[in-house]
Amino acid sequence: MDDLKYGKRNKRGDWSPNEPVQTAPLFQFPPRLRALLRWIPHYFFPWNAIFAASAVAYWAWVIPPVERMQTIGIGWAAWLYAVNAICVLLFYGAFELHLYVLKRQENRFKYNGKFPADQKSKAFWFESQNIDNILRTFLSGVTIWTGIEVVMLWAYANGYAPWLSFAENPWTLALVALVVPIIHEFHFFCVHRLIHTPFLYKWVHSVHHNSVNPSPWSSLSMHPVEHLMYLGTAFWHLILPSNPILMLYQLHYAGFGAIPGHVGFDKVELGDDKLIDSHAYAHYLHHKYFEVNYGDALIPLDKWFGTWHDGSAEGEARMQARYRQRKEKLAAREARKQANGATE
Ligand SMILES: [Zn+2]
Ligand SMILES: [Zn+2]
Repeated sequence: MDDLKYGKRNKRGDWSPNEPVQTAPLFQFPPRLRALLRWIPHYFFPWNAIFAASAVAYWAWVIPPVERMQTIGIGWAAWLYAVNAICVLLFYGAFELHLYVLKRQENRFKYNGKFPADQKSKAFWFESQNIDNILRTFLSGVTIWTGIEVVMLWAYANGYAPWLSFAENPWTLALVALVVPIIHEFHFFCVHRLIHTPFLYKWVHSVHHNSVNPSPWSSLSMHPVEHLMYLGTAFWHLILPSNPILMLYQLHYAGFGAIPGHVGFDKVELGDDKLIDSHAYAHYLHHKYFEVNYGDALIPLDKWFGTWHDGSAEGEARMQARYRQRKEKLAAREARKQANGATE
């Protein structure tokens, strides 16, 4: 597969797409009907369908009977941790194995020309991005994920969360299922913007940003506080008219759904001629430049707040202008302070 048909590679070996990243054609006025119709299949396939199907599979085969979940018990919590850990290992591991261990598509469609395993860094535990990321994923990531899952299931089992049945409320639940990714986007943007404030960035979010060149295991490599805030998106279902399966979908959308944004490749090759879009470029640019693309462009929040970078030269210029403006503002404030000091 010739990736130069879709993008270009610079001297460092970094590949970038020719086309700027598009925000989803939702929330646009006037609505672009044709773009919307073309976009709809991508809304479901493949990613959202996988996360929704995994929630149904959990409900069918993994989640304990409701009576058992009325009291929180170490037995069923440990069982859920084990299943979550195995699923994360298999799902994340599949991308890692395919793209980073066996390097089946070498560096085709790879944003950053280098592979993290070739670069040691003191920022990571044991100076290894992979060991650091894997330990953080299983020590706090899957633990907090399971903790939230247990609390939510216990709440459903005891009637503390609104539990609608699919037989009686099919339309309400279909609507909630449809907006699960939108809830995620809104929640993620708010939480993410908050942890980019100086104090929280330093103590919490910088852990995730140590992976400047993200790879699959970077997805859930976070500080425990960020795990709680990020995966806490499931708590919306304490107030929404919902169902445990949709709560699981919300949780899996965050947990398994972090993967596409961090694979580090624009497209994953399947066989000789099939390509799957990762839609990772916006979030890759976030890892590269830090202060752009707080969201994933499902809702154009970054556009509204002026932090959108679509990878184009104009996007780059907008970002540089913003940085310049901030620098000037800081310099002016500093000058004012000094002038005040001199007159006192
Ligand atoms: Zn990230
Ligand atoms: Zn960030």
